[in-house]
Amino acid sequence: MDTFNSPAQAFTSADGVPNARGRILGGSSAINAGFYSRAGQAFFWESGVEWDLNVVNQSYEWVEKAIVFRPDLRNWQSAVRDGLLEAGIEPYTGFNLEHVVGTKIGGSTFDSSGRRHSAADLLNYANAANIQVAVYEVWEESCWHPLLNIQGGQLLEWFIVIREDDITIRWCVKKVEVMLSAGAIGSPQLLL
Ligand SMILES: Cc1cc2nc3c(=O)[nH]c(=O)nc-3n(C[C@H](O)[C@H](O)[C@H](O)COP(=O)(O)OP(=O)(O)OC[C@H]3O[C@@H](n4cnc5c(N)ncnc54)[C@H](O)[C@@H]3O)c2cc1C
Repeated sequence: MDTFNSPAQAFTSADGVPNARGRILGGSSAINAGFYSRAGQAFFWESGVEWDLNVVNQSYEWVEKAIVFRPDLRNWQSAVRDGLLEAGIEPYTGFNLEHVVGTKIGGSTFDSSGRRHSAADLLNYANAANIQVAVYEVWEESCWHPLLNIQGGQLLEWFIVIREDDITIRWCVKKVEVMLSAGAIGSPQLLL
């Protein structure tokens, strides 16, 4: 669980809560419990981000086609469902991917043979000519970096430092849109 090369990297938060992060292509979706649900409406209103909900809804469809399955309910899952219903957690909406109040059977990222599907599976949709996947690399820092172009004018370029096999590589990339997705802890760390 806690060796350097393990996909599941255990840690304990400052307030004492044991936790884990996925150090693997697909991130924590490759080590998590595999429960899947669409986002609740309140998430979009409260996020402060202007979402294009058409794109969000289209994305649900292709993501779900690739990695979301209807789970087979075993004894204990059926018992939990029945217990919730007996306790009056209603309505019961059956197999339902929407974020709704009540009791439902959510999606699973484990298929009927028990095989896990992670965010890495979504790379099957990528255009191989447009994507470069680097594994076992550590992004150490990044920042906007002022550079002089050949006319002496100042350009802002995105500057990233990556460590691969103990070799430090510095990249300067122009005309970029950077999406930093190192997780809830890793992204702020890199921005700091
Ligand atoms: C035990 C557990 C169970 C969970 N169960 C569920 C569940 O059932 N359903 C659910 O919806 N959610 C669940 N979650 C939460 C869910 O897995 C996460 O919310 C989700 O994976 C976060 O995705 P992310 O892309 O933001 O970050 P991550 O999945 O953490 O991905 C970040 C990636 O960035 C990489 N990275 C970080 N820093 C660097 C760096 N400096 N250089 C290079 N790479 C870096 C990491 O190795 C990782 O691959 C669970 C989480 C855990 C730990």
